[in-house]
Amino acid sequence: MSLLVQKYGGTSVGSVERIQAVADRVYKSAQQGHQLVVVVSAMSGETNRLIGLASEISQRPLPREFDVLVSTGEQVTTALLCMALAERGQEARSYTGRQAGIQTDNSYNKARINNIDTQAVKKDLDEGRVVVLAGFQGVNDAGDVTTLGRGGSDTSAVAMAAALQADECQIYTDVDGVYTTDPRVVADARKLDRITFEEMLEMSSLGSKVLQIRSVEFAGKYNVALRVLSSFQEGEGTLITLDNEEATLEKALVSGIAFNRDEAQLTVRGVPDTPGIAYRILGAVSDANIEVDMIVQNISGDNVTDFTFTVNRIDYERVSEIVSNVAKELGAVDVSGRKDIAKLSIVGVGMRSHAGVATKMFEALAAEQINILMISTSEIKVSVVIDEKYLELGVRILHDVFDLAQN
Ligand code: ASP
Ligand code: MG
Repeated sequence: MSLLVQKYGGTSVGSVERIQAVADRVYKSAQQGHQLVVVVSAMSGETNRLIGLASEISQRPLPREFDVLVSTGEQVTTALLCMALAERGQEARSYTGRQAGIQTDNSYNKARINNIDTQAVKKDLDEGRVVVLAGFQGVNDAGDVTTLGRGGSDTSAVAMAAALQADECQIYTDVDGVYTTDPRVVADARKLDRITFEEMLEMSSLGSKVLQIRSVEFAGKYNVALRVLSSFQEGEGTLITLDNEEATLEKALVSGIAFNRDEAQLTVRGVPDTPGIAYRILGAVSDANIEVDMIVQNISGDNVTDFTFTVNRIDYERVSEIVSNVAKELGAVDVSGRKDIAKLSIVGVGMRSHAGVATKMFEALAAEQINILMISTSEIKVSVVIDEKYLELGVRILHDVFDLAQN
């Protein structure tokens, strides 16, 4: 008998028929003798619908009330699923975040889980019930409902699995695992049997949105065995594991190609090359709560330096304005920027032990006449910024050059 946490996302519970199908699956697992905590999302579209209602009433909805509102979607699903399980003769109980003892900090809309008091859940499990938990929500010290940020049900599931020391946390979704790249771009993208937490983090932060990033961080930190699999078809899915030797030995150089189109680039030319310049430019951007991604600074002439960085495309206009003001104060030559860029990355723990991976990437892009605008690297990743119109071509050739379709 194992203790499993299963999480079903919005599409998996998107209609009454689909909730019935989830109930069948949960029922089957329970019949096999497993103890089960089932974490559910709101039915697909529901969270967006609730957010839409709020924005019809207020430009800036009160954070406390916003969380009360958007947390309701998940509760609907818990109740319906428990009813469906009862129809199958399986005892089950719905839990809100509060009932499940999910204690968070006070930041509404993006709360972090501090602690889980699992007593009540454990009692139900021991008495043979399936526990059905509303994902995405918790409760703060004041006793108010909080939510964990978009996609937060993944984090609820992983946190619950860590607290209960579950044997596995299974994330059921509308894809059957993690792929070497987006199959919509590369037809022969391959499903990975395994990927390490670190690689998964890079893949998700680079735009392969299978799991909420925070849930992957959490799973890595507490070493929760995490599996992504399809709720619509049978299969082993993808297991996300620690970077153990076994995983590294059999590893290809590169595990996946990630990309992100939502990028924009800004360049400030000819600012004085003196201490505090990076701080002046980027400090102003971060003061506006805007995240900067890649940064390149380079000497361009006598005592002057150029600065290029990327931000999310939706922030481009605001950043442009902020940076133009600072640039004027600093006596910069000019500020320029473009929104038609994209980021393309190769990811793999295999890079740690192999030289020349980046060179191979640059060579492949050069052979297709794809110009590289920026480069940044980490231990397990090389990212380049390129013209957006070459993105799909770039993804395809890298997938090819690093032999990702085989294995
Ligand atoms: N329902 C929430 C959302 O759409 C949480 C989740 O599904 O994970 O973001
Ligand atoms: Mg999701």
